[in-house]
Amino acid sequence: MKIMVAIKRVVDYAVKIRVKPDRTGVETQNVKMSMNPFCEIAIEEALRIKEAGLASEVVAVSMGPVQCVDTLRTGLAMGADRGIHVEATAPLYPLSVAKILKALVEVEKPGLLLLGKQAIDDDCNQTGQMVAGLLNWPQGTFASKVVIDKEKQEVTVDREVDGGLETLCLDLPAVITTDLRLNQPRYATLPNIMKAKSKPIKKFTPQKLNVNVKPDLEVVEVTEPPKRKAGILLSSVDELIDKLKNEAHVI
Ligand code: AMP
Repeated sequence: MKIMVAIKRVVDYAVKIRVKPDRTGVETQNVKMSMNPFCEIAIEEALRIKEAGLASEVVAVSMGPVQCVDTLRTGLAMGADRGIHVEATAPLYPLSVAKILKALVEVEKPGLLLLGKQAIDDDCNQTGQMVAGLLNWPQGTFASKVVIDKEKQEVTVDREVDGGLETLCLDLPAVITTDLRLNQPRYATLPNIMKAKSKPIKKFTPQKLNVNVKPDLEVVEVTEPPKRKAGILLSSVDELIDKLKNEAHVI
């Protein structure tokens, strides 16, 4: 079985986000970019499934500007076998990404499609659900445990839901999106970073895949959250209770 993993290049999680002066988006010029953390978890899970002898190949896919190749190289250095870069200069929204993934699934025919549960730049949490719908494949979102049954061609997924865990059994092929507690992604070692340089990366464009990526939504404005007021230090619990009662009127 082949596993395809969608990995997105995003502003690094440790960078303090700045809104562009014209409010059309967030600043990405001269900002450190990295692989979306949930996508690292997705790659790690694919590698563990392969290492357990349950998959034959891990293919990493990234869509966006030419710099996405760096993100793919990170995935290849972690252990993915090859990459696919779908080059697009205009912003890609979840429905376009889902349509491109569907087109690639038709070319590559993976048995499992792994995605992060959400990208930390747009926080959409839509792409996995949309591609599962387009492919008409079963979906296990927010996975915190994934167990493949090769003989039955099924996968059991534990999902973190409000108030506990939900366990689903999906027929393969399926779409799974990864949550934070699924695994701890590995660091790429120096020899593997070197090896990754010679792993193949296939190039596509949305046009070549016959996918129209004209956005059907428009970002009207991006603004910073209001500045938080400074807090105050209180000297006793009694003082706190007094303020909650008489100033904030919450108790
Ligand atoms: P979102 O629905 O935007 O929150 O993204 C959820 C997941 O979809 C991400 O964690 C990735 O696995 C995948 N994804 C979204 N955009 C891209 C992209 N441009 N390239 C590759 N994968 C993507």
